[in-house]
Amino acid sequence: MNIRTRLALQFLVLASVILGIAFAVVYLRAADFRKEEFVSRMKDRGNNAATMLLQVDEIDDRLLHKIELASPVRLPEETITIHDHAGHEVLRLGAQHGASGPTSELLALVRSESPYYLNMGDRELLGFAFRDGDEEYVVISSGLDIYGRRKLKNQAQVMLATFLIGVVLIFFIGRFFAMRALSPVQRLVWEFQQIGASDLSKRIQLDNDKDELAQLALSFNDLLARLQDAFQVQRNFIANASHELRSPLTAISGQLEVLLLNPRTNAEYETVLRSVLEDMHALNQLSDRLLLTAQAETGATATSFGPVRMDEVLWVARDEVLRMDTGYRVDVMIEEVEDESDLLVTGNETLLHSMVTNLMANACKFADDHRALIFLKSSRNAISVQVQDQGPGIAIEDHERIFEPFYRAKNTGGTKGHGIGLSLVKSIVLSHGGVITLDSKLGSGSVFTVALPKAA
Ligand code: ADP
Repeated sequence: MNIRTRLALQFLVLASVILGIAFAVVYLRAADFRKEEFVSRMKDRGNNAATMLLQVDEIDDRLLHKIELASPVRLPEETITIHDHAGHEVLRLGAQHGASGPTSELLALVRSESPYYLNMGDRELLGFAFRDGDEEYVVISSGLDIYGRRKLKNQAQVMLATFLIGVVLIFFIGRFFAMRALSPVQRLVWEFQQIGASDLSKRIQLDNDKDELAQLALSFNDLLARLQDAFQVQRNFIANASHELRSPLTAISGQLEVLLLNPRTNAEYETVLRSVLEDMHALNQLSDRLLLTAQAETGATATSFGPVRMDEVLWVARDEVLRMDTGYRVDVMIEEVEDESDLLVTGNETLLHSMVTNLMANACKFADDHRALIFLKSSRNAISVQVQDQGPGIAIEDHERIFEPFYRAKNTGGTKGHGIGLSLVKSIVLSHGGVITLDSKLGSGSVFTVALPKAA
């Protein structure tokens, strides 16, 4: 069932209940009123007969019959009986209807509960006590409320018909309003359907920016914008990665082709092979980093997280960096801690190792003295690794961009690289729930600080 019909049905149920209750209250009130009115008429008729018979001396039984039978205010099929304290019938006006007259139980009931009302199907009866001096009589007046009942029945029929027509109308009106209220949603759905993966630049048109649907469209537009950015980053990444991979491959094949043009001496072969080997190493390093970046960004490593000692990671990374170039120097300073667990983080050892290696290698690569100074500190909740160098420094405007994949600032001089190291570092830090900050300006060295949450 669609929302439109569901809303219309809910509206219908609600309105029917309210309408039904209102009609029922009106009907019950009208029924009460009819009864009260008829009871009051029966009482008046009984009172009138008793007063005339018992208190007006000039009127006797026969005269009263004449007066009352001709009375225009008689009740339909009216019967009035008056009984003395012994239960003897003193007066009877009108024919006997139904049973053979009031029973002694009825008289007793009237005496104890005066006025006493009894509904016997169509006929209604009212009995009440009437005092004349010391004598107490019982007056029983009964009749048919033909007019009142017909009026009530008619009222009930009108209300029932109104209710049924109302219910049908409410359903269609409800459906119409639900349709009108939901038509902007349908338009949104249509617009959503027009947006494919290839045209993320499209946006939902907004009629206003206040109602809930406009808020939904706004959020959707925001989502599209973020997706579009992510797609763009992805495309750039692929384009840059292929470019970076192609350059060494082109260099390798170029060198080999030239080498094969003529016969060469062993020394020439060796020189070219060494150069090819160097390019192969660079390629290897690049593909490793690309792989690690993918790992860190997809979060696929979270399952492989475990306790990792950061001091050990620093020492292993230092060894690796020193092996890269004999001119490199890395000094590691580790703050004294009470407990070894103060140096533990929860993470992926391979990624953390790669993160530290990249930072150390950059410091050694860019600084003239090829020296990196590393501090490991432990605070209450975090462990921080600080990598300092006396290199060329990084211009403030490049602080954000150097963490983008394949971005290399102008300060690189002739150093080799692909611009992927810091973006990998950032991905690793984020995937470990840490933060990386940079304190540097052109000409005054750089300090990269990574803070990682301590293992719980
Ligand atoms: P690569 O080192 O291959 O160029 P990175 O992503 O590691 O790539 O670094 C990006 C850029 O950030 C570098 O090209 C360089 O301009 C700048 N950079 C990184 N580390 C340092 C540093 N320690 N000192 C100065 N500049 C740096």
